[in-house]
Amino acid sequence: MNNQQRITIIGSSNIDMVAQVPHLPKPGETVGNAIYMQSFGGKGANQAVAAARLGGNITFVTSLGNDMYATLLTEHFKNNNIDTHYIQYSSDTSTGTALIFVSDDAENCIAVAPGANAELSIDKIQSFEAAVISSSIVIMQAEIPYETIKEISLLAHKKGVKVMVNPAPAVPIDLDFMKSIDILVVNETEAEIVSGLNIKKDGIKKISQELSSKGPKCVVVTLGSKGVYCLCHQKEYTVDSFKVKAIDTTGAGDTFCGALAIALAENEMSIKALQYASAAAAISVTRMGAQPSIPYKEEVIKFLK
Ligand code: ADP
Repeated sequence: MNNQQRITIIGSSNIDMVAQVPHLPKPGETVGNAIYMQSFGGKGANQAVAAARLGGNITFVTSLGNDMYATLLTEHFKNNNIDTHYIQYSSDTSTGTALIFVSDDAENCIAVAPGANAELSIDKIQSFEAAVISSSIVIMQAEIPYETIKEISLLAHKKGVKVMVNPAPAVPIDLDFMKSIDILVVNETEAEIVSGLNIKKDGIKKISQELSSKGPKCVVVTLGSKGVYCLCHQKEYTVDSFKVKAIDTTGAGDTFCGALAIALAENEMSIKALQYASAAAAISVTRMGAQPSIPYKEEVIKFLK
């Protein structure tokens, strides 16, 4: 381990299997001229790769299956300078898989088999607790069991480790869990589901106030091409998005979270931290794919000059 502060990311890993098809197959239909692509995904893995490419000392806790993808992904994480020491390997299920059809007119149809991701259960926490409590910040999303992320959040909070939660895909969060969160990062859909309010009717500020009244010291709402709103210790921050030619926004939120974790591991919330995360996310939307589009530290520094 280098002497930078450790950032631990706990979350999902998936293999995305994508078939580009002229049209989505109807029940019973075979589309014979698909183009196949495979890529590495899962919100946990995307955020870990983002934070690592941006120069962090990253430990990734995830659960992989009993298949060749476990070996492939472990190598991939190592190649991205991620500490893979605490990765769990399931003996009786497959690595998380997303089966995706994308049609030429950009419609899609997706089936996700969580596989080993669902096995990152509460009883496994003991095996990676050491990483959690020796971190300056932990980051979690919602593609692994809810009870696990809640328990880790309570543990980290008790030990004085900063907790960043990105409840994606959107899940409601109970009050005990909310109280243990330092930084809550949500997109617009997640903001509505977690707060139970409506953006059009109530507005971003009211939703952020409602969320922060439940515990999180900072609430960060990402607004896609409209930028970011943040309410932190009653102070408001707004950052416009960078004007870029977006070609694929997959993984923008994950790149944002990974970059924000880097900016906040050793510092408090600031406009600069939000701009840094927005810059990394903006670069990612100019390229195809989730993990392939995540920039390296040098690119973000150059972009911000
Ligand atoms: P998610 O991918 O979780 O839905 P968002 O769509 O809100 O998240 O995007 C996260 C961040 O990525 C935004 O706050 C913004 O900084 C950046 N971003 C997303 N879309 C664009 C875009 N079209 N142009 C520039 N930046 C973007």
